[in-house]
Amino acid sequence: MSEISASAATRDDATALRERSRLSFDLDVDICVVGAGLAGLTVALEAARLGASVAVLEGRHVGWNASGHQLGTVMPGYSLPIADLIARVGFEDTRELWSLSKQGADYVRANATEELIPGIALSEGALEVSNIDVGEALISRLQMLGEDFETEVEGWQVDRVRDQLRTDRYFHGVYYPKAFQLDGRKYLQGLAALAKRAGARIFEDTPVVSIDPSGIRKRIVTPSARLRASHIVLAGNIHLGAPLQRLSETLLPVWRYAAVTAPLGERLAEVMTFQGSVTDSDGIDHFRIVEGDRLMWASPETTWAARPARFAGAIARRIRTVFPRLGKVEIADVWGGAVGQTVHGMPQIGQLRRGLWVASGFGRQGLNTSAMAGQLIARSILWGDERWRLFSPFELVWAGGPTGRVAGQVVGVWGRASSATAGALARYRERARVRERVREARLVEANRQAGTRPPQRRSPPGAPRPERPRPPVAVNPEGEGG
Ligand SMILES: Cc1cc2nc3c(=O)[nH]c(=O)nc-3n(C[C@H](O)[C@H](O)[C@H](O)COP(=O)(O)OP(=O)(O)OC[C@H]3O[C@@H](n4cnc5c(N)ncnc54)[C@H](O)[C@@H]3O)c2cc1C
Repeated sequence: MSEISASAATRDDATALRERSRLSFDLDVDICVVGAGLAGLTVALEAARLGASVAVLEGRHVGWNASGHQLGTVMPGYSLPIADLIARVGFEDTRELWSLSKQGADYVRANATEELIPGIALSEGALEVSNIDVGEALISRLQMLGEDFETEVEGWQVDRVRDQLRTDRYFHGVYYPKAFQLDGRKYLQGLAALAKRAGARIFEDTPVVSIDPSGIRKRIVTPSARLRASHIVLAGNIHLGAPLQRLSETLLPVWRYAAVTAPLGERLAEVMTFQGSVTDSDGIDHFRIVEGDRLMWASPETTWAARPARFAGAIARRIRTVFPRLGKVEIADVWGGAVGQTVHGMPQIGQLRRGLWVASGFGRQGLNTSAMAGQLIARSILWGDERWRLFSPFELVWAGGPTGRVAGQVVGVWGRASSATAGALARYRERARVRERVREARLVEANRQAGTRPPQRRSPPGAPRPERPRPPVAVNPEGEGG
């Protein structure tokens, strides 16, 4: 049993624990990376390959969060639908952004060879199925992806989809023959091994508690050491915290839970013959066959951390809803991780101020996008590649704090059936933020002209203080950023 095995995972963790090295001495490096997830490790690997001295500081252990718990599906694109991307930055920049996302996937493929990462179990092809009957929309989507975005895709009619996935819940499909899947956990560990082999030093149990990014040589403080570096890359996702709290607050944390079933024997082949990854167009289910006759399935989401075991029953029920003919399924293992979603749906990639970089907000599609971010940042630092600026239109927008999480969860429960709803929430937040800024500016101006102070809002006694909206932080090469 190679992929996703609870006992293997425990063994891996035990070995990893013994081998963890905490930073306990001061260090001077070219690049200090905060966070050893997919993003931080890819920056480290690429920068070390290009000759920089790199230290990765990880508060817990490599792949502790989402990166060590993903399903290993590698697709082109972003969480933000392509049409929304075009509306936001125009057709030409969307083409370039899309092409970068494909390069991210190619980067993963180049590392995920049996020679570099033994047991990586790469297999080809992913299918995106539609939950509603939208044949017309499918044709235009295929044309756009194929002709405008040079992405190999096939349109599958309902019959073909249902021949391979025997359920009446799915209609048409878009098949990506160049998408692929691999053993996600092995990839993450392999990435760490490759980064070390290239010369990067990875320190675990080493949380970064503060940074001073001013000056040419920046300072990084951990509980038992101090570092100096010319560049700091913040790749801590939602857990970054103290080093730049405002950055953490630009992400809406979403915990996603996944499970693997016990062996299902021949009944699995009776309901599913497709061997690649399946995602549905509403962004609810994501699954594939592993180890011949098990299903690996991700579905439930919360905006707070919960014990993954709580979701075993929900995932089993979800599998049965989609494939009633399977009957009862036994869940062998459940796990989860938190992804960071941005308000606009695009990752945060760029330079906040000279030498201070951010790579986060990869959402549910982190394998190709974090690989792309790692390459862009390392190559910008070492070669002056400026393509990360394509992400500049996507500001660091405050994600709503606890209020935003509640709103996010309400949308998740009632409207997750529609990715458009999530997009609507994000756009609503963005519009609300702009409206609030304009309103506040007008109020300040009116008070300035009248020579009065703004009226103080009164809350009823005992009521919680309302959260004040914060202005967006621009990703700006020279600016002061976060
Ligand atoms: C169940 C599930 C399935 C998924 N499946 C897929 C999939 O099939 N395909 C896909 O493309 N994506 C998938 N994703 C999404 C993908 O896992 C994420 O987008 C990606 O892992 C994010 O990587 P990251 O490096 O930004 O964040 P993380 O994995 O969160 O890594 C950040 C690291 O930084 C560390 N850190 C934070 N703050 C500090 C600090 N102050 N000091 C030191 N260290 C710090 C944390 O401990 C953590 O280890 C899935 C996610 C989940 C949860």
